[in-house]
Amino acid sequence: MALSIYKKKRDFKRTPEPSGRTRKRSRQLLFVVQKHDASHLHYDLRLEMGGVLKSWAVPKGPSLDPSVKRLAMEVEDHPYEYKDFEGEIPEGNYGAGDVIVWDTGVYAPSPTTDDPDKEARRQWHKGHLSVVLLGKKLKGEFGLIRTNREDKNGERRQWLLIKADDPYASKEDITKRTASVLSRRKLPRDRV
Ligand code: MN
Repeated sequence: MALSIYKKKRDFKRTPEPSGRTRKRSRQLLFVVQKHDASHLHYDLRLEMGGVLKSWAVPKGPSLDPSVKRLAMEVEDHPYEYKDFEGEIPEGNYGAGDVIVWDTGVYAPSPTTDDPDKEARRQWHKGHLSVVLLGKKLKGEFGLIRTNREDKNGERRQWLLIKADDPYASKEDITKRTASVLSRRKLPRDRV
């Protein structure tokens, strides 16, 4: 089951995160980037495909500069309901710390096809995703490329997130925009 690792890591009596389930595949695919002040601050990039949210932890967050490669560590699939999750994961739980929805919107794999979900999964398995994001902060095409580096279990979970050179590319540091796109809330560390 796609969400078994997600469920195994969490005690839903102790965390406000959704327990969730896989949902029907969709034609209008969603993406979300959550900012997560866990033991190490990171951004969680999630792309809907196959009825779940494929997920990566991006320590430095996305860059709009095509010359910048951002490390993106593949993590367990999350349930679709996680797209709206903001709040505090209490201490002692997996991923303890504050979460906000830093950006969200729709996305489509490039090239466009009449079955974007299938195309996204095909590209994910290939280890080379090209996605066009239409969010509030992130727009335009991004590449996600799985590297050959293996972790201690022999798994290739390391990807690179790179902005494609299109009209949305820029030198602006988009991570300076810290507020949630859902609630306007900021992480305590970003409040001045
Ligand atoms: Mn996280």
